[in-house]
Amino acid sequence: MEADRRTIVLGLEGTAWNLSSALVDEEDVIAEKSATYVPAKGGIHPREAAQHHAEHMAGVVRAVLDAAREDDLKIDAVAFSQGPGLGPCLRTVATAARALSLRFGVPLVGVNHCIAHIEVGKWKTGATDPVVLYVSGGNSQVLALRRGRYRIFGETLDISVGNALDKFARQVGLPHPGGPKLEALAKSAKEYIPLPYVVKGMDFSFSGLSTAAAQAAKKHDLADVCSSFQETAFAMLVEVSERALAHAEKEEVLLVGGVGANSRLREMLKIMCEERGARFFVPEKRFMGDNGSMIAYTGLVMMKSGVTTPLAESRVRPGYRTDEVEVTWQ
Ligand code: AMP
Ligand code: MG
Repeated sequence: MEADRRTIVLGLEGTAWNLSSALVDEEDVIAEKSATYVPAKGGIHPREAAQHHAEHMAGVVRAVLDAAREDDLKIDAVAFSQGPGLGPCLRTVATAARALSLRFGVPLVGVNHCIAHIEVGKWKTGATDPVVLYVSGGNSQVLALRRGRYRIFGETLDISVGNALDKFARQVGLPHPGGPKLEALAKSAKEYIPLPYVVKGMDFSFSGLSTAAAQAAKKHDLADVCSSFQETAFAMLVEVSERALAHAEKEEVLLVGGVGANSRLREMLKIMCEERGARFFVPEKRFMGDNGSMIAYTGLVMMKSGVTTPLAESRVRPGYRTDEVEVTWQ
């Protein structure tokens, strides 16, 4: 019966380091294929990353189209990460998405990357109306749904926590991405070294912390500095999340974004939630960092609520804010 047919959406993510294509329906991920850009040295170079995405686009798209063909699935829409992200990367992805939408004669759905992190987190954990701590390489925000939009309760005043971790790691000679390496080193720490703790109102800042930690690493044991960096940065994030929870009167906390893989951050948030009687949700690791499934799934819920993106409105949006999006699907 046509009315009962499941909806199938192809999604393309590529705002920064990970190019990823996926196919989902309402229930689950059907296929996903990624190609990861690893900078030869230093951090992410936007044009190099875009070049990487262009080279791997055909491969990642073909992989999920093969999966669709195998199961005889008809694609109902093409979703793509419209922003925020690196301009050259976004343009490469949007161009491919437009071509696919024309090729299959199906609607295009431009998805806000931050909202996709939230929606996939809710989908995969069962959280319904959480305060969201979104911490990644490009963003650090505390958000919650209020009057039909994801409002930003607090955010970084300068660089994201992931970027601060990666920058510090580079300064002490560790390769990109630094977050996981710092976490491993921090496990053998013995001493806490005071570092700048900066929370202003509901916002936080990490740029000074990264610099101060690099200075401290010249005098102190690296493991101690790594651990102190984590303790300081994560305490800032937990403080703001806790205040958002009280202010927005929510009962759930959802952790999303690549930095959410960190077990110390999870532990600190979990303790805060237990003390407040809130429920704490973390999706599986594969849905924490950037992935195509989150774009495909968010495109699916958007389309089912009646939202698609005409070609003329499909320009990329490098500075796309979450609170610009009307949440029509909840
Ligand atoms: P995303 O932009 O969401 O894909 O996340 C990438 C960021 O997550 C990078 O800054 C990484 O250094 C960071 N990251 C990944 N794993 C960990 C970890 N275990 N601890 C801290 N940061 C991490
Ligand atoms: Mg991200």
